[in-house]
Amino acid sequence: MLIDAHLHITQRDVEDGILNIMDEMDYYGLTAGTNPPDCAWIASLAQRQKHIIPTFGLHPWYADQYELKDMMIYLQSCSIIGEIGMDSVWCYTDLDTQRKVFLAQMDIAQERGCPVILHTKGQEKEIGEIISDYSIPIIIHWYSSQKYLDLYLKRDCYFTVGPDVLKNKAVQHVVKDVALNRLFVETDGTNAIEWAIGRAVSPRKLPEILLRSIDCISNLKGIDADIVQKEIRKNIKVFDLFNP
Ligand SMILES: [Zn+2]
Repeated sequence: MLIDAHLHITQRDVEDGILNIMDEMDYYGLTAGTNPPDCAWIASLAQRQKHIIPTFGLHPWYADQYELKDMMIYLQSCSIIGEIGMDSVWCYTDLDTQRKVFLAQMDIAQERGCPVILHTKGQEKEIGEIISDYSIPIIIHWYSSQKYLDLYLKRDCYFTVGPDVLKNKAVQHVVKDVALNRLFVETDGTNAIEWAIGRAVSPRKLPEILLRSIDCISNLKGIDADIVQKEIRKNIKVFDLFNP
């Protein structure tokens, strides 16, 4: 069994056979729906494919394009809320709007006792401070800042190691500083990989990318890759998402 702790699935991925690949490889994916139409799409895929674990949240990139009320049905029913957060690097949406949407969703998660997956790009300091007000389990997606990691370690967060761990020093720091019982691996989906490496990838590559990240964690921590795999499977059980 493989666990991709954060990805997006597109129409093209489905045309390229991702649903079959998930069966073949026993590949479970915490699959983000990022806005109301995307959530509807991911929910429909999850009905066809048990390996898709939907996570729903209004992504900071869409914070000013949709109303939170149109997300409520998804925010109230999912097992993990996210990807939510703030971003001052890759998006121009006003930060006050992003913050309002983010905090409202954190409050819903806290009320429900529901774990969250957070996007922190460029806002690592502020989000690191905000999370100290919440007691829900927190997963930090693809942390890639050289700073403020201590804020997240103090809060006992989980981390999904990004697919650029082979060459990104900040991601390697996460691996070194975070305990194995708080680590996952993620691909973020084919679009993100395409962005990271500058060429298109087929969903068939995703399992390979996860295994490569696991090898890299094994090297950086000096722990056998099989043990890293086992630990990731153990870590996901805490969230009680599926019965493989
Ligand atoms: Zn993502």
